[in-house]
Amino acid sequence: MEQPYYRLEELVGKDVYDAKARKVGTVTDVGYSKDGKNALIIGIERFETTSNPITDRELVLSSLLKGRFETILFERVSEIGDIIILRPDTETETKACPICNRQNEKQAKFCVKCGHKF
Ligand SMILES: [Zn+2]
Repeated sequence: MEQPYYRLEELVGKDVYDAKARKVGTVTDVGYSKDGKNALIIGIERFETTSNPITDRELVLSSLLKGRFETILFERVSEIGDIIILRPDTETETKACPICNRQNEKQAKFCVKCGHKF
């Protein structure tokens, strides 16, 4: 029976492609966005090997600061197989609330945070 969830080991190292089959990067970790949604942490480019080994966690944190990683919300994921395929951007388009700046679904009538009517 298929498991309803993915283990970290099944995701890390998989290549991620967008809906137009362009390579986005490689999964390096799985985390949570600040609003508690699952997110994939994608390495955008490969790292030169360094002589000082550092832990993966340090690598992710230091690299996040340098902008070499991108987080992709799990809801953007369309298929997970030998590779990971993302949905087209248009399906996950959001709009920012003019009052509180919170991202809302494009079709939303009210802001989920402050209730502003779009
Ligand atoms: Zn708002």
